[in-house]
Amino acid sequence: MKIGFVGLGNMGAPMAANLVAAGHEVVGFDTVAPCPDGVASAASAAEAASGADVVLTMLPNGAILRAVAAEVLPTMAQGAVLLDCSTVDVESARAVAAEAESAGCLAVDAPVSGGIGGAAAGTLTFMAGGSDEAFAKVAPLFEIMGQKAVHCGPSGNGQAAKICNNMILGVTMIGTCEAFALADKLGLDRQKMFDVVSTSSGYSWTMNAYCPAQGVGPESPADNDYKPGFAAALMLKDLRLSQQAAQAVDADTPMGQAATELYATFVEEEGAGDKDFSAMLPRFVSRRRG
Ligand code: NAD
Repeated sequence: MKIGFVGLGNMGAPMAANLVAAGHEVVGFDTVAPCPDGVASAASAAEAASGADVVLTMLPNGAILRAVAAEVLPTMAQGAVLLDCSTVDVESARAVAAEAESAGCLAVDAPVSGGIGGAAAGTLTFMAGGSDEAFAKVAPLFEIMGQKAVHCGPSGNGQAAKICNNMILGVTMIGTCEAFALADKLGLDRQKMFDVVSTSSGYSWTMNAYCPAQGVGPESPADNDYKPGFAAALMLKDLRLSQQAAQAVDADTPMGQAATELYATFVEEEGAGDKDFSAMLPRFVSRRRG
């Protein structure tokens, strides 16, 4: 396939490199980042998109996605697919899909889980929204860049799945961290806490696979001075998207709201945006009830 790739940052660059390694022709554009080896460099997003079978975008937010879509859609061939793998608001994903349809193109929103490590290793999970036809066209690319792709329904449903998943993740991480901090103060050894909870009804991915306590459970960012991993700033972004969506459809999400407020304080007032999101544990330990 000929693939236009717009947004070659931390995630986009390794994803583009994997497409090249699998034998696809990739033409890239980024306003700042250089193209990785093997990716031909275009002078604009429109140039990267012209004549492509698939235009893949990996961008910071919905406003930038909308601007890039408006630029590339007029140059894309009829029937080509605009495949957005960024994490953006559901509304932008649906608006871009409608624009693509008016332009005679197909659209898939397919945000990812797996982070920079998963992007480099080609083991991402894709959550996709779009028509069966559009999903079928890009499915071979998901197989190269990832290990799993779930077709979640029509346009926007990939983003919906992503923010619901990450709302659970944020809430669960806070719950796990505050429970460890309570256990500390009750004199309960962290390893014993892990041994019990990881095999009891309090178990979760944040406890069992990504334990926020240093030296406990499998290796995680806690064992590396809370270097991300998944930065608290990115968790805050996703939690805010969940609350924006909840407001738009009048859904009651009190725990999601509380988690958003807590990560906002952590990132914006306490300057911990570049720490892993599991660094909530030392934060709770250093605080008193108040
Ligand atoms: P990043 O900031 O490293 O990369 C974004 C790239 O987009 C940058 O290189 C930037 O220069 C480029 N860009 C911005 N505006 C542009 C434009 N108009 N035209 C062309 N390029 C433009 O971010 P990232 O970590 O690669 O994340 C990308 C997306 O993936 C985000 O939506 C993020 O939420 C999502 N995501 C990231 C992770 C992660 O662990 N980093 C995990 C899952 C999902």
